[in-house]
Amino acid sequence: MAKQEDQFKKVVAHAKEYGYVFQSSEIYDGLSAVYDYAQNGAELKKNIREYWWKSMVQLHDNIVGIDAAIFMHPTTWKASGHVDAFSDPLIDNKDSKKRYRADVLVEDFAEKLETKAQKEIKKAEKRFGEAFDKAEFEATNPKVLKYRAEKQALLDKLGKLLEEEKLDEVKAFIEELGIACPVSGSKNWTDVRQFNLMFGTKLGASAETAMDLYLRPETAQGIFVNFANVQKTGRMKIPFGIAQTGKAFRNEIVARQFIFRMREFEQMEMQFFVRPGTQKEWYDQWKETRLKWHLSLGLGEENYRFHDHEKLAHYADAASDIEFNFPFGFKELEGIHSRTDFDLKAHEKFSGKKLQYFDPELNESYTPYVVETSIGLDRMFLAVFSNSLQEEDLGDGKTRTVLKLPAVLAPTKAAIFPLVKKDGLPEVAKQIVADLKWDFNVIYDEKDAVGKRYRRQDAAGTPFCITVDHQSLEDNTVTIRHRDTMEQKRVKIEELSAIIDQEVNMKHWLSKM
Ligand code: ATP
Repeated sequence: MAKQEDQFKKVVAHAKEYGYVFQSSEIYDGLSAVYDYAQNGAELKKNIREYWWKSMVQLHDNIVGIDAAIFMHPTTWKASGHVDAFSDPLIDNKDSKKRYRADVLVEDFAEKLETKAQKEIKKAEKRFGEAFDKAEFEATNPKVLKYRAEKQALLDKLGKLLEEEKLDEVKAFIEELGIACPVSGSKNWTDVRQFNLMFGTKLGASAETAMDLYLRPETAQGIFVNFANVQKTGRMKIPFGIAQTGKAFRNEIVARQFIFRMREFEQMEMQFFVRPGTQKEWYDQWKETRLKWHLSLGLGEENYRFHDHEKLAHYADAASDIEFNFPFGFKELEGIHSRTDFDLKAHEKFSGKKLQYFDPELNESYTPYVVETSIGLDRMFLAVFSNSLQEEDLGDGKTRTVLKLPAVLAPTKAAIFPLVKKDGLPEVAKQIVADLKWDFNVIYDEKDAVGKRYRRQDAAGTPFCITVDHQSLEDNTVTIRHRDTMEQKRVKIEELSAIIDQEVNMKHWLSKM
């Protein structure tokens, strides 16, 4: 645990030091759970967004993208259920005055049982060595089975109490489990209350006529209310999808995991409209497609897992999370939800407008079912960034800090150095920058010894360093160094563009899916 926390601290510090993520309004001591993306962070975020957009919109001829407004008519949120049901159960510790999500307290407690099960598995792995059959052990070891059954029983009970809105029993459950406040260590809890997560604001100048609005807590509703408009103007035939990326706002209570849980964040969502009865097929297919998208970035298959929901939201008939192995353990990165016809039916009812589709093949009209894929851009950023940050042992007591971002997402693709600041080398290096910058984000750097410049770019995540030396003046060649292997090769200046393109072009990465 201490090691995990350590790694997480390093991630946060590195993100600041190398111009990726700053705390919002830091000069005023910051704003809790709000962050700004800095010069490198903005580029990385843009590249992730583009990688998603290309794969979802550009490469699917039946998916189109829109950009709906953050403000929406307030009835939207009545229809979607957010006004009545978008809330978290909260509990305060009377001694520390800290506020927690009651469900998270119980879930964290249950997770400790999983940690115990994992310990048993690790112990056995050591004992049996090569002959160890993990699946067999997990399925038969009495201790592992006991821990997991206990964990499941806790989660089942929690799910039932929340579903039945028995908040006083949730409090009793927390007391029964002996859960203490991590800050004060006391078990002196208030009652559990529901707290709506939407931020309210007002539209209009005068107090009497102003209209109460919400900042959208998800981008999905902007797609549902535009369903008929897009279907007609785009002459879309079912099955088809509408995608968008954009900001969403939630007044999160437990917000202490850097950009994992923010109050202002960005979502990348796609709602896929299908014939009723076919939703299960599409749900399975989108789970598979989305996992392939993640795997195409090469962050390691072992770092992803599905978590199928047993307790479903009011609108869903199936739901699964793609969880990622963050520095603080496996947590939700993306949700894939089979949302039935709940949203379109609800908007039809509240707006009085028909939101149906005439299916020419069946010769009938129906309300389409929806399968959605919903990923947090900031969480994806954290997944990529934390996984890429590595401390490498180079032997002889030497180490280097390297940010092994997938080259396709790296903010800067290449740094170009003159070996020395004289003899015409800077001019050649600057000309290379001038030529490459039409296609790639590149930078020029002449400060410090070359070794130090390499280390700086390694830590910043730049996949290539190109060095101009005296030989370059004679034969138009330079050395190109790869961040991950540190291998250096002598190549012709005119080949640079093709070499970089081969490694950073989205086409090469996405075609692996
Ligand atoms: P969680 O259970 O972690 O609160 P959620 O199930 O409420 O997440 P969804 O409503 O399904 O999340 O939103 C879809 C995606 O949006 C999530 O998978 C996550 O990547 C992202 N997301 C949700 N809330 C936040 C947040 N506060 N900060 C950053 N990303 C978020």
